[in-house]
Amino acid sequence: MDTKEAYQIGCKALSSISDSASFEVFELLRFCADLSKTDVLCNIKQLSDQQKKVFLACLDRRANGEPLQYIVGEWSFFGREYKVGPGVLIPRADTEVLVETAISCARQSGVNNAADLCAGSGCIGISLSCELDIPVDCYEKSEDAFSYLQENIKKNSADCKAVLWDVCAESTGMYDMIVSNPPYLTKADMEDLQREVSFEPAMALYGEAEDGLSFYRTITKRWKSSLKPGGWLLYEIGMGQHDDVAAILEQNGFIEICTEKDLCGIIRVVFARRAEE
Ligand code: GLN
Repeated sequence: MDTKEAYQIGCKALSSISDSASFEVFELLRFCADLSKTDVLCNIKQLSDQQKKVFLACLDRRANGEPLQYIVGEWSFFGREYKVGPGVLIPRADTEVLVETAISCARQSGVNNAADLCAGSGCIGISLSCELDIPVDCYEKSEDAFSYLQENIKKNSADCKAVLWDVCAESTGMYDMIVSNPPYLTKADMEDLQREVSFEPAMALYGEAEDGLSFYRTITKRWKSSLKPGGWLLYEIGMGQHDDVAAILEQNGFIEICTEKDLCGIIRVVFARRAEE
């Protein structure tokens, strides 16, 4: 099998499950045989038996619905690379809006430290720490996700501390800013997951209540005492959850409640400040 044949076989195998089959096949060939786009289509050469075997095995996994990110084991977020795999949520482009909003809040009022709750791969906390040059504590309760978190902090040389912690059980520390992309899918969403998403940990997706909002209720109540007066609390939310999350913030005495939209125009971030005493 030569590189061009491999590309054609790959595109055919993935065309029914992916809108970006060509991109995905290039990514798989880069991962399996260290080939660039030009290598694949112009500098055509034979794949070794080993490369062919690995490529076909990866193609099979992808055709079966496993996310590309788990197969290649790495994904980029806000300009940095993160190790990912089964057991940790794949960083989403939508989440970059949360990071951008947090950065602009931090530039409005000095932020000297922050916490990322339900940190998963660490993509939010690590981005904030590197962009703002501040220490960030990243809290995660899943041991599987925690090992990716530790690895990603090291990989990006970030000034972050990974803490194995159930953020719903107890709060700790004192911060100028708390950010979180907690699990927020509803019970109905969980019964109707896309095939790819069903490979990701349910624990990172399900919001543990019919309406998916359990984490927002608990975190807002429990962590407000870990936020300095005037400090920022920022959440990523699911589609249509903004009014309910804003109400939770209001009931807990937060002020200046605002929202931010993602690139598709969906309200994706709700944020507010703890009132000054
Ligand atoms: N903070 C991580 C992310 O946004 C993980 C979130 C989660 O596990 N719910 O990708």
